[in-house]
Amino acid sequence: MKVRSSVFASFILILEGIGVALFLRGFFPVPLKSSVSSKNKLSDLPVEPLTGSSHNSSRLPQPLFKRVVIMLVDALREDFVFGPNGRMYMPYTRHLVERGSSHSFVAKARPPTVTMPRIKALTTGTIPGFIDVVMNLNSPALLEDNLIWQAKTAGKRMVFYGDDTWVRLFPKHFMEHDGTTSFFVSDYTEVDNNVTRHLDSTLKRDDWDILILHYLGLDHIGHISGPHSSLIQPKLMEMDDILKKIHSSLISKEAEGSLPYLLVLCGDHGMSETGSHGGSSEPEINTPLVLLSPAFKRKGKPSNFA
Ligand SMILES: [Zn+2]
Repeated sequence: MKVRSSVFASFILILEGIGVALFLRGFFPVPLKSSVSSKNKLSDLPVEPLTGSSHNSSRLPQPLFKRVVIMLVDALREDFVFGPNGRMYMPYTRHLVERGSSHSFVAKARPPTVTMPRIKALTTGTIPGFIDVVMNLNSPALLEDNLIWQAKTAGKRMVFYGDDTWVRLFPKHFMEHDGTTSFFVSDYTEVDNNVTRHLDSTLKRDDWDILILHYLGLDHIGHISGPHSSLIQPKLMEMDDILKKIHSSLISKEAEGSLPYLLVLCGDHGMSETGSHGGSSEPEINTPLVLLSPAFKRKGKPSNFA
């Protein structure tokens, strides 16, 4: 009898070991062992879906846009643009969403809703793991296949201003960059001014193809005083003014080039009712994704907006 119970105990022990191992394997997935060869090449282009022919696989598809500006506002909640707050504090953006040539969506961020895993998810299209939360403060260069690497390989000239996580993930990809540390959470003014101060001169220049801006101020306000704080209003208005500045500049440049521009406004994650993020509550995962371009026909009847 004694023997049988000890066999049973060791069996349970082994089973528990396997269970713990399986849990850890799922919770901290083994990072992809990447090398240059794991990155997709032109020859990997899928077959044309309509014709089924693979004629196009040897050459790049024609570009749809001349320049792309990505304005990422950290912790931009979906209702900050699409809700009543958006109507009041982001009137220009809201006007474009409702009446301009735009496509807008509510983008669902997969938890963990933390900046570094979210940037990885946005640029690689993969789902972040919980291990990325641990790595959030010490992000090594991203080796997986990603949009930024592909754009650089395709000869696109990229400029980046904002959260220096991007510079750590993509150390040699930008022709020009100015990273801002997100370490000083109490600062919600200088982090953003450090991005905006470059805008006037950069928007005038013609030597870049992709401009990426990552604004941290709104996220910091969330951490300090939450999504209903009185600091949110001026910050959203500031972001709206910046979007207006970029949009106006792109419109004025439009006549010079043959291809249209694309302006993207997005968030990396939202903000909970207490102003934090990381979890999977609706306000944390729902972010706005607004694509603006004259390439998208104006919606409904012609608007007065010019
Ligand atoms: Zn963030």
